[in-house]
Amino acid sequence: MIYPIYLYGSPVLRKTAVDITPDYPDFKQFMENMWETMYHADGVGLAAPQVGKSVRVFVIDGTVFEEDYPETKDFKKAFINAHILESEGEPWSWNEGCLSVPKIHEDVKRPARIRIKYVDENFVEHDEWYEGLCARIIQHEYDHLDGKMFVDHLSPIRKQLLKSKLQKISKGDVSTDYRVKVEK
Ligand code: ZN
Repeated sequence: MIYPIYLYGSPVLRKTAVDITPDYPDFKQFMENMWETMYHADGVGLAAPQVGKSVRVFVIDGTVFEEDYPETKDFKKAFINAHILESEGEPWSWNEGCLSVPKIHEDVKRPARIRIKYVDENFVEHDEWYEGLCARIIQHEYDHLDGKMFVDHLSPIRKQLLKSKLQKISKGDVSTDYRVKVEK
């Protein structure tokens, strides 16, 4: 099932998401829906708050970038109960977008490497370092779990310039190829 994607301005995108247990309602189906929703919207990542569920879950398929960013080879993963433990390295800039903020792309600076603890779809624990574009995508999705959006990282001037576009999005006044909704 494809979920509608909540747009910028929806309160659920500003909440701190919580961990889940294996008895989360219809867990298997929920994960399938997350993948299906992400692919349907042509996204490389999708976090649960973006479909209105305030839980620490996100899925990523960064393999489309393999040619330019070899580290994304086979980078297709679900992160459940994700917690970033450390980040380090020279911050670098990359042009990001977000399914919840359609039609806006902005350069965002993020640390080069991160260490993240999470469980996979079988609730097996992992504690791993990521770098390059993998670390970047993880940090973008991870922000959603803490109620943050990529536009929060912009300078006050950039934010001011985007203000009216963001206001329109928060009213649902934007056209997309996927189903969206604004939570009141
Ligand atoms: Zn996003």
